[in-house]
Amino acid sequence: MIPAEQNNGEFLIVGQGIAGSLLAYFLLKKNHPIKVIDKRLPGATSDIAAGIVNPITGRRLVKSWRFEELFAHAKKTYSDLEAFLDIPIFKEKNILRALPSVFDENEWERRSSFPENRPYFCKTAELGNYFNLTTPAHAWGELSGAAKVDLPALTAKFRSYLFENEILIEEEFDFEKMKIDKSGVRYNSFSYNKIIFCEGARVVDNPYFNYLPHSPSKGELLLVKIPNVEVDKILKNQLYLVPLGNDLYWVGSTNSFNFQGYAPTIAMREYLESTLRNILQVPFEIIKHNAGIRPTVADKRPLLGNHPQHPQLVIFNGLGTKGASLGPMFAEQMADNLLNETEIDKEADIDRFEENGSRKK
Ligand SMILES: Cc1cc2nc3c(=O)[nH]c(=O)nc-3n(C[C@H](O)[C@H](O)[C@H](O)COP(=O)(O)OP(=O)(O)OC[C@H]3O[C@@H](n4cnc5c(N)ncnc54)[C@H](O)[C@@H]3O)c2cc1C
Repeated sequence: MIPAEQNNGEFLIVGQGIAGSLLAYFLLKKNHPIKVIDKRLPGATSDIAAGIVNPITGRRLVKSWRFEELFAHAKKTYSDLEAFLDIPIFKEKNILRALPSVFDENEWERRSSFPENRPYFCKTAELGNYFNLTTPAHAWGELSGAAKVDLPALTAKFRSYLFENEILIEEEFDFEKMKIDKSGVRYNSFSYNKIIFCEGARVVDNPYFNYLPHSPSKGELLLVKIPNVEVDKILKNQLYLVPLGNDLYWVGSTNSFNFQGYAPTIAMREYLESTLRNILQVPFEIIKHNAGIRPTVADKRPLLGNHPQHPQLVIFNGLGTKGASLGPMFAEQMADNLLNETEIDKEADIDRFEENGSRKK
């Protein structure tokens, strides 16, 4: 039994990707004591993601789930974090999309007339210097209302803040060292009120939450250098090309549900390099090749909530392909739930699943 006086209500957060960082930020803002345990393990994704916030996605040009709400939370949270960490994080950007066929052009016209899509479809596409950079397409479209979030910079600077304030424990969480008790949960020689797991795709190794329908997907990308071209918009021409400044570009990505290991693969490097060669009219130099595992869920919705038998154990995960946009709103919701037991969105609550991982009727 853990003596209650040793438990001062502190929470332990496992994982400091974008999920763990944003949750820690909201809890600290509300003056709640926390510790964060994280070891950058292979497969972690926030360090390598492009951070695109995209209102309209896929070949079918579908409006992203609850986009306006998520975007408003993201813009506010990231601008607060820019002031807190004193670094640029959030930038609104347009996305240029190649429309490779008559079908795509017609679909663009059709979708742009939907009332909920109208604010995001520009009347014309302005290629600017992309005209000389990328190969011609059948037609072009341009989306407004998108953004780019610098997830690697945010998580790195926030990590330094946690370290300097003695909040960060830089080691791998070991379930052998965890003991659940009525008054909380003990880890190593310390007592916590709750442990919140934000392990990204590593959640599949968590014996308490691996019953949920996780469906991790591996993504690979290239960082390339393309000298002397001034562009600012994001380009989608088979691959995404995201200008990072200083002649550097993020190029990706691949998406595989059937993968082995965390490391970047030769096959995907070849695919990315040859596709890039097809869509660029200028030479480029590959600077880096990275891979990460997205914490995707079968129904593509986040995972928030207490373990059905052990309410001291909590999960905040399932940000899938959209951590940059889903993170802020759901991290704040998670923090409010932890502190005030406010309701979790039904679509994100893990209570939507049975303990065998199937969807409740
Ligand atoms: C190629 C690629 C491109 C992407 N592009 C975009 C994009 O443009 N826009 C977008 O919104 N999203 C994008 N994503 C998705 C985005 O990266 C994820 O949604 C997001 O980063 C998930 O964050 P997370 O905090 O849940 O997980 P992670 O970032 O993986 O963080 C989990 C952390 O927990 C640590 N951890 C896990 N287990 C333990 C343990 N036992 N002990 C200690 N530490 C542990 C890990 O090492 C890691 O540091 C992309 C993903 C990939 C792979």
